[in-house]
Formats: sequence, C-alpha cells, structure tokens
Amino acid sequence: APVIGVLALQGDVREHLTALAAAGVTARTVRRPEELAAVDALVVPGGESTTISKLAVLFGMMEPLRARVRDGMPVYGTCAGMIMLAGRILDPRSGQETFGGIDMTVRRNAFGRQNESFEAAVAVKGVPGEPVEGVFIRAPWVESVGAGAEVLAEHGGHIVAVRQGNVLATSFHPELTGDHRVHALFVAMATAAVTR
Ligand code: GLN
Repeated sequence: APVIGVLALQGDVREHLTALAAAGVTARTVRRPEELAAVDALVVPGGESTTISKLAVLFGMMEPLRARVRDGMPVYGTCAGMIMLAGRILDPRSGQETFGGIDMTVRRNAFGRQNESFEAAVAVKGVPGEPVEGVFIRAPWVESVGAGAEVLAEHGGHIVAVRQGNVLATSFHPELTGDHRVHALFVAMATAAVTR
C-alpha cells in the first residue's frame, strides 16, 4: 500500500487522516522536507490557501513540494488544497504562491457571500454510484482548464473537480462527510502510481 501523507501546515488535517483510514490506508502528517521525502502521495487539506502558502515558504516546503508534484507524486487537494494545486489563481493575495500540478485557473471564494457555505449533490466522474454530498465552504471554482486537465464535476455551471495525471482537486470537502469514495479514488490513484 502507498504511504500517504497529509500536509499539516494548516487546515482540516485530522479529517483527512480519518477519511484516508476509512478508505483503507494509514496516513501520516507531513510538515518538513524529510517527512515529504518519506511519503508516496500527499493530501493538501482545506483551510486557508494564503496561510498554507506562507507556511510552506516558512517551512522550506514550497520548492520540495513543487518538485515532487512535477515528478508525478499523486496529490489530492480539497478547497484551499485545490487552490494550492492550481497553475494560476485569478485573484491571488500578494505573495500567494501555489505548488502547481493542474493546468487550471481558480477563483478564490468564488461562490460568493450569499452562498459562502452550502451543500449540494455532485456527480463526480470516476466515483461510482450516487452523487457525493459536496460541502462547499468559501469554496473556489475553476475558471478554466488547459488541454491536459480533465473536468470531473461541475456545480451550477462551474467546474468543481479536476484531474490531471496523478493530481486530483475538488472545490468541496469529502473529508467532512461520512462518504469516503473520493478518498478511495485517490487511494486507487496512489496505489496505481506506486505499483507501476
Ligand atoms: N477560501 C479559502 C481559501 O481561499 C478556502 C476555504 C476552504 O478551504 N474551505 O483558501
């Protein structure tokens, strides 16, 4: 089984550890370059992307993470984690950087004040069965994707789940529901990558 880490600089780390355990793998927290080097795959949690970006620089993780993503490490980002995996942010805070991984442009806090948090059923390509319960909390949406990125889900006409190669990103938070099918999809991606 792949060794999966959860980037533990800021955000809903514990919820991802629990969801990964339910999906059948033991995950561990990753804060430092040595810890990153010891995992096969990584989850970037939801939280606040500006804070995660700042702390990644502070912890010397920005370049090591970019390098691992470039090298094809399986990565899954939810919400703020999706933003961290975007090639471009439409409205970045000054100094805000990303790890990259998906050729897409994201818009932060895109669903607006009225709907800052809401739930909606979302059909996700690659997740069999019923639509998943999408929990959106000040969520980004994806403005546009490049040719290499596959759109896995939309909500209200906006892209909310994308995959490019080994990199998966959702605007919403499956780790906050009891449904671990999206995590299971990511575990399958990670398993395929390590046994190749
Ligand atoms: N709005 C946050 C950001 O821009 C993301 C919110 C979340 O992860 N729930 O980083």
